[in-house]
Amino acid sequence: MIKVDRPKDSTPKGFAAAGVKERRRNRIAKIANEKMKFAAYSTKSVRDKLDKLFGRKCAFCESILAGTQSGDIEHFRPKGAVIVESAVPGGDPIKKDGYYWLAAKWPNLLISCADCNRPRTQPDYDNRKRVIGKANYFPLVDESQRATGPRGLRNEEPLLLNPCVDDPAEHLVFLDDGRIEPAIIDGELSPKGVASIRYLGLARAELLQMRARHRRIVMSAIRHIFAAMKEGRDPGTDLEDLVKLLSPDEAYVAYTRALVRQHMSPYLEELRLV
Ligand SMILES: [Zn+2]
Repeated sequence: MIKVDRPKDSTPKGFAAAGVKERRRNRIAKIANEKMKFAAYSTKSVRDKLDKLFGRKCAFCESILAGTQSGDIEHFRPKGAVIVESAVPGGDPIKKDGYYWLAAKWPNLLISCADCNRPRTQPDYDNRKRVIGKANYFPLVDESQRATGPRGLRNEEPLLLNPCVDDPAEHLVFLDDGRIEPAIIDGELSPKGVASIRYLGLARAELLQMRARHRRIVMSAIRHIFAAMKEGRDPGTDLEDLVKLLSPDEAYVAYTRALVRQHMSPYLEELRLV
């Protein structure tokens, strides 16, 4: 996950007005205890804008969406319902109301791959199968502060990283082999790092394999650059390859940055990398 700047004026055309209408209808439906409908977010213009903003990558795991899947338009704060894990070990999860008033709000929308977003049984980092995927989970630092309306949001502190709000680099650390760990902040594991790895499945086995494959490409570019420098040649095109791998719309950029820092630290300034 990398930090992504969401410009204030990037709201898709017509989305704000459609959102106002939908919120009004849903407020009435909620009062009448009828089913709410969410459709305003699911348009081509919203998807196109999200694709552009996140470089056609999953906002969470940075897997490329183009070619294999279009990705899910993901509500950072779940729109329909929130599942809260029981505070008692082994207890049943609790279902709470979702953030219906944010269903058609531009800052609440991300784009995500199915594996990060949908609850599915997948092999985790230890190859044991677990249900992984954000689904309707939205854990908070303090559950008692969960917002039930727009005004409550200012007191709510999410435990999941939002790439348009947080800097994921402060909370997640990549090891050389592509494993991911929570960063240590003031001597403690970052709670946002811990929760994001767990709920988004950022250490799931398939993702580890993809990052291992990606490592070979990055390390090959780094080796070629070193070889050229050793022989006194201009690293030219090899350096261009690496610079391209570091551009924000490429896959697994957070990991590429970590590899470059780990393997090229004496040359970062000279080569103007990272
Ligand atoms: Zn993903």
